[in-house]
Amino acid sequence: MNYISTRGTIKPIGFKDAVMMGLATDGGLVLPEWIPALDPVTLQSWKELSYQELAFNVISLFADDIPAADLKELIDRSYATFTHPEVTPVVTKDGVHILELFHGPTLAFKDVALQFLGNLFEYLLAERNERMNIVGATSGDTGSAAIYGVRGKERITIFILHPDGKTSPVQALQMTTVLDPNVHNIAVRGTFDDCQNIVKSLFNDLPFKEKHSLGAVNSINWARVLAQVVYYFYAYFRVVDSFGQKVVFSVPTGNFGDIFAGYVAKRMGLPIGQLLLATNENNILSRFVNTGDYSLGDVVQTVSPSMDIQLASNFERYVYYLFGEDPARVREAFASLPQKGRIDFSAAEMARVREEFISRSVNEEETIVTIADFHRETGYILDPHTAVGVKAARELVTEGTPAICLATAHPAKFADAVVRAVGFEPPRPASLEGIEKLPSRCQVLDASREQITAFIEEKAP
Ligand SMILES: *Cc1c(COP(=O)(O)O)cnc(C)c1O
Repeated sequence: MNYISTRGTIKPIGFKDAVMMGLATDGGLVLPEWIPALDPVTLQSWKELSYQELAFNVISLFADDIPAADLKELIDRSYATFTHPEVTPVVTKDGVHILELFHGPTLAFKDVALQFLGNLFEYLLAERNERMNIVGATSGDTGSAAIYGVRGKERITIFILHPDGKTSPVQALQMTTVLDPNVHNIAVRGTFDDCQNIVKSLFNDLPFKEKHSLGAVNSINWARVLAQVVYYFYAYFRVVDSFGQKVVFSVPTGNFGDIFAGYVAKRMGLPIGQLLLATNENNILSRFVNTGDYSLGDVVQTVSPSMDIQLASNFERYVYYLFGEDPARVREAFASLPQKGRIDFSAAEMARVREEFISRSVNEEETIVTIADFHRETGYILDPHTAVGVKAARELVTEGTPAICLATAHPAKFADAVVRAVGFEPPRPASLEGIEKLPSRCQVLDASREQITAFIEEKAP
């Protein structure tokens, strides 16, 4: 399987090189040259597979330059850190199917991809006898999942910038209580945007990037999307008895990474009727699906902070298919986006979008009310991101079509919103018990590129 760029100007590369490249060097996003479509008989035969077996069947189609035994071992090790034997179980409450993606070490769905990516990086670096310094910015969930993905790995050092005092207390502790010598947390006196801008400027400094072999872990890496395709298959088989029945997946969306994985599963032949794109007040993608208006606005803060995004980095991957796999058009649209602030789509394209997606934006009050109502009706506590998807599914999915809602975080990670809704703190899973008392390590620095560069220079091996 070869990989290309959505902007069409890199020469095709294999899976391993695509993982190491991260963002395509022409500024586009990496995609497989074609998406394998599986026949119903093959798919049906996957019904009884364990999560790990299913992951191998899906991932090996796209990662054909890694020997089968090695890939199996990578997958087994990546999901051994999950506390549920099924890895991503489905529970059904009041007719709503909830795909629990939060049983990994940091209690959010990002662990599914980052446990795998950490092990994959380690494997590829050993093969090349290289090392890597990962530098990333986080508003909360990605940072801890990335840290847990690479902690203790010999060839990798990780630097994660978060805005000091602006993540939830639990999110900060999940990062700063990891004391492995290869992990460096930097609390920046500033905002998430300050962190992000500093990281971007480091990656744009090519001599610095080369000298320190900088690597990225944001959701533009194809391996992250690929690892997430697996749970769409797994959930489908848990919910549907006779193969072929169409389901709707409701996906709380920020960067369009998770829902794009669902789109790949659909193209592979999984009977997904539509994908429900659920957003909070940062609703550019809902506006796009419902009215064709894709114009950038300002980010507003909500109770589902991991979805507080305007410019969804993975959207370009979908646009590539929407534009009939024409990289020249993608190049043109995304090159002019920063000045124009918008992308225009034709009526035919919008008709196709509405065949594939339905969408609803859910505001803060609706989110809190949904957590409260769902708890009263079923006894089950939703986290605020999951609640956005559940509310959208209850509004939009018609009777008779199974709706599978992706539960992207454990409610204990966002206790404030849950307390507002139900009046008490959600019970904490074992990994959070007593976390306030653990020793922690974190460097506080100004939002200054000079200070942060000096810190990385000092700590990078
Ligand atoms: C990252 C995140 C999302 C959004 O996922 P995308 O792939 O960016 O669309 C939703 N919920 C939670 C809890 C997250 O951490």
